[in-house]
Amino acid sequence: MDCTLSEGRKTQCWMIVVKAEPKHKMGPWCPHNVVDPITSGGMMFIKQQIVPIDGPFVKNVATFFSDPKWSLYDPKTGAIKVTDSKQACEMAARPDVASQYNNYCVECLASYMGPDFHTRYLIPVQPAKAKSKQNPDGFSGYGVAFNGVKFDIAAPIGAILGAHTLAPVDACGGHVNPHVGYHYHAALGCSQAYPSAASHAAIVGVAIDGYLIYTRENADGREPDDLDECRGHEFADLGYHYHANLAAENDILHCLKGERGCALAGNQSQCDFSHRGPPGPPRR
Ligand SMILES: [Zn+2]
Ligand SMILES: [Zn+2]
Repeated sequence: MDCTLSEGRKTQCWMIVVKAEPKHKMGPWCPHNVVDPITSGGMMFIKQQIVPIDGPFVKNVATFFSDPKWSLYDPKTGAIKVTDSKQACEMAARPDVASQYNNYCVECLASYMGPDFHTRYLIPVQPAKAKSKQNPDGFSGYGVAFNGVKFDIAAPIGAILGAHTLAPVDACGGHVNPHVGYHYHAALGCSQAYPSAASHAAIVGVAIDGYLIYTRENADGREPDDLDECRGHEFADLGYHYHANLAAENDILHCLKGERGCALAGNQSQCDFSHRGPPGPPRR
């Protein structure tokens, strides 16, 4: 269909319509008691580290962050405060966390979105370089994995921890917010991957500017050494494409080099680049 990209180029776009939840298993995210093992929790990407979020981590969290204001559990029962409703999720799963949800482990369920919820993406069929580096907006993200899950921008870890909340992702690097449903903050191999050129990484999705996203590592187990500031490069017949980042870095790419499309908000039929995404608080 016709579309207009971020710098005004008029071209043809695919419209990709995806549901709030993937085909693969989601969660777990928050442990519910301080004795719960890692099999009942997820992980967070903090200071370039993958931090497992199990019960003992929550028990020790004030020490971990050297901050006595952390208190996520009942010392008598060990029960951890976990958001348990759509309303709690909406109030807690945003960077300006409602004060009554400070000191919570935040998890939202895809079922809160309802069975008909979907997100529509407009992505150029023929990608082309933009005049200047493009920053994705929090609603559109970096792109879409081949299983239909959004590759989101970095989780706002500073705001999450600043409100003394935890917002774990599962073993696939994903969790749910009330705006797009389930989305990834890392590329951990849970989507289909298609082989590309011999020895080069596999393709796992398409960026919102139409260039393809590959796994981080080539067949030799190493990341290409000529990636640009956005994590892209040109390679032989493959043309320009990106390589996903290490999960611990909490940023699947860093920016986009092509003129980008968008995720459409509400009843929109075209991208609106006059502001950054639809109104409302920034997304987790
Ligand atoms: Zn490459
Ligand atoms: Zn998120």
